[in-house]
Amino acid sequence: MVTRVIPVDPFDLVVFGGTGDLARRKILPALYRRFCAGQIPDEANIIGAARSEFDDAGYRAFVRDTILEFAPVTLCEDGAIDTFCDRVRYIKLDARGDEGWEALARIIHADRVRAFYFSVGPQLFADLAERLHRHGMASGETRIVVEKPFGHDLASARELNTMLARHFDETQIYRIDHYLGKETVQNLMAIRFANMLFEPLWNSQYVDHIQITVAESMGVAGREEFYDRAGAMRDMMQNHMMQLLCLIAMEPPAKFEPDAVRDEKLKVIRALDTVVLDDIVRGQYEAGEDKPGYLDDVGNSESTTESFVALKTGIGNWRWAGTPFYLRTGKRLRARTSEIAVVFKDAPHSIFGADAGRHANILTIVLQPNEGIELGVTIKEPGPGGMRLIDVPLDMSFAETLGPGAELVPDAYERLIMDVIRGNQTLFMRGDEVEAAWRWTDPIIAQWEEKGERPLPYESGSTGPEDALALMHRDGRRWREIRE
Ligand code: NAP
Repeated sequence: MVTRVIPVDPFDLVVFGGTGDLARRKILPALYRRFCAGQIPDEANIIGAARSEFDDAGYRAFVRDTILEFAPVTLCEDGAIDTFCDRVRYIKLDARGDEGWEALARIIHADRVRAFYFSVGPQLFADLAERLHRHGMASGETRIVVEKPFGHDLASARELNTMLARHFDETQIYRIDHYLGKETVQNLMAIRFANMLFEPLWNSQYVDHIQITVAESMGVAGREEFYDRAGAMRDMMQNHMMQLLCLIAMEPPAKFEPDAVRDEKLKVIRALDTVVLDDIVRGQYEAGEDKPGYLDDVGNSESTTESFVALKTGIGNWRWAGTPFYLRTGKRLRARTSEIAVVFKDAPHSIFGADAGRHANILTIVLQPNEGIELGVTIKEPGPGGMRLIDVPLDMSFAETLGPGAELVPDAYERLIMDVIRGNQTLFMRGDEVEAAWRWTDPIIAQWEEKGERPLPYESGSTGPEDALALMHRDGRRWREIRE
């Protein structure tokens, strides 16, 4: 498979927080890979900005080391790192001070796309926005990229939106959710809206239920302080899982255009049922597998923050009334895996008799670790001995189907950063979407805070608390296995 690469126009990209973890692990490697793919033109400038002491040469050495550590070098020609680093510069600045801003304004081209990636803590967003404006860099073809978390609740998200709107138009604001940049997530839209096969069945008449799982095997190490303030509901459910839910449930937009797609997503969030406490299970992992438990990890023996949440909700519209959506996410679970499973109803009548059992079709969209799509179909078990039925997968793992070219498929950050440069907001969250997601999330959190119960303990390496299994068992359904 050959991936078509269309170079973008020359641009200036400033990475505020250019020395931080996200820049090192994701942003700089993504830029390098796009450079190797031939998408970044020679005239482009990539500028790291932070408080650390670096000159251009020192930062280039830092970027070089970062790439060697985090970017697969096999795709690039010899010497590519040096050529890439020639495009890299560094400005020492403090988001809250005056130093460095004039120097930054001087090297930014007024007649180009100018992207400013806010890869810093959200407490600095207002300072960055205000200084970009004050130094004449907020107008024209300027775009800002804002990382999650976008607020802690509805009030703080609104405040953030209002603050950004003082200096930037909504068309300039790119709220990133890297899940939306994943190949499979976009393929989900292709499957739904480019095939006749599924759309007629995509409703409560044929779909029994939908389950979305985002399981992580790691604990909270490295993000303890942030995580203990957030928990699974704010860290995963309000954003990543909500976005997946929107894409699986939304109506077909008239066009694959930013506002057409985002309008439909917003309608899904607004139609979500309020979740009652009986339909929520919260958990906290215990020590196990030679690793400490959650309370030790965060160094707070009183913490009531959940590292796991499972819930059942529904969507109050014509398409989905009556189809439950089960969502679960957690840390220190059996495996790292993310998938959406659309479980279709059983055939209305089995001509093969009761012994043939139940055989629902399941369409599974796997986001990680091995992106791909699997359709479970029922066939006759081969051989003599009557009509015994088995379920087999029609499997399309991208790595296998696309062959050696699969590794050239851009990862989420590569695609999203290039979309910022191209000015395509389709895969970015709009302000009203984020606020609607918090409007749904806040009352859920308020309910359990009011009740004051501790999350249920669960074994490290398990599938979460037993009660999460019961959440589905009581409806006569079961979660899919959490497997690699
Ligand atoms: P980090 O490792 O703590 O890096 C923070 C960066 O901000 C550093 O480059 C730091 O550099 C810079 N910085 C701090 N204070 C500054 C100031 N006053 N003026 C200018 N620069 C300043 O954080 P991170 O993990 O990269 O995360 C960055 C953002 O991305 C956060 O909002 C985080 O929630 C979000 N995020 C991160 C990840 C991830 O995987 N890391 C994933 C999703 C979202 P100096 O100390 O040199 O100034």
